[in-house]
Amino acid sequence: MTTRWIFLGLLSLVLVTTHPWGGPVRTALDGVSGLDQLQALPDLLLGRGDGYALTRTTESGEPVRWHHCGTVPVLVNASDGTTADIVAAVSEVADRTGLDLQVVGDTELVPQLDWPAGVEPVGSYPYPPVVIAETAADETGILHEGDNGAAVTKEAAVGGTRQLVTGTVLLNADELDGFDAGFGPGLSRGNVILHELGHLVGLAHVAGNELMHAYISPRTPDGFTDGDVAGLEAVSVDC
Ligand SMILES: [Zn+2]
Repeated sequence: MTTRWIFLGLLSLVLVTTHPWGGPVRTALDGVSGLDQLQALPDLLLGRGDGYALTRTTESGEPVRWHHCGTVPVLVNASDGTTADIVAAVSEVADRTGLDLQVVGDTELVPQLDWPAGVEPVGSYPYPPVVIAETAADETGILHEGDNGAAVTKEAAVGGTRQLVTGTVLLNADELDGFDAGFGPGLSRGNVILHELGHLVGLAHVAGNELMHAYISPRTPDGFTDGDVAGLEAVSVDC
């Protein structure tokens, strides 16, 4: 597991979670250049539940949830096949969390480490949209070579409350070529996408055989397990 906080400003910070699913274990900053501002995520910031863990909690232990009860727009930069899986996965995560994530269009954006710098809001949502991009690892500083995916979330203090306001998911096109298209147990593209979306809404890695385990293998379950679902409910948005 490679989880690092990036501090970008007084009231905002970004969490990058990448994982070498199926690849060698890495140390926190191994193989990454230009990321010397990154710091290891202190364990004490990880909330824990039954079968799930949280990437961010408040001082009182509550999950840091997404900001919006309206539509959070999602833009996609991916092949047609991957886009179909993304749309289905986004819909499932929206259903399970109450967060109205909706794929509203495509984009040519490939998010970089300064993301979401320069990305303009879409529609009525006041923050940059979520961007999900399938790309080669050498096209973005967020993905390490060999990683299957990465997720970045950004929070802000909204009305004095810490809330997630935007995020991005990167999918490694080269690695996903070796996965089964669609959904299913084990090494399926759908499992990778659902896992990254789990990070997007605030879940961290767990040690058990959940989809939010840091590694994917032939024994990986078919989509979210009961523990994952409990986590998605824990971060759910009550509108
Ligand atoms: Zn992960």
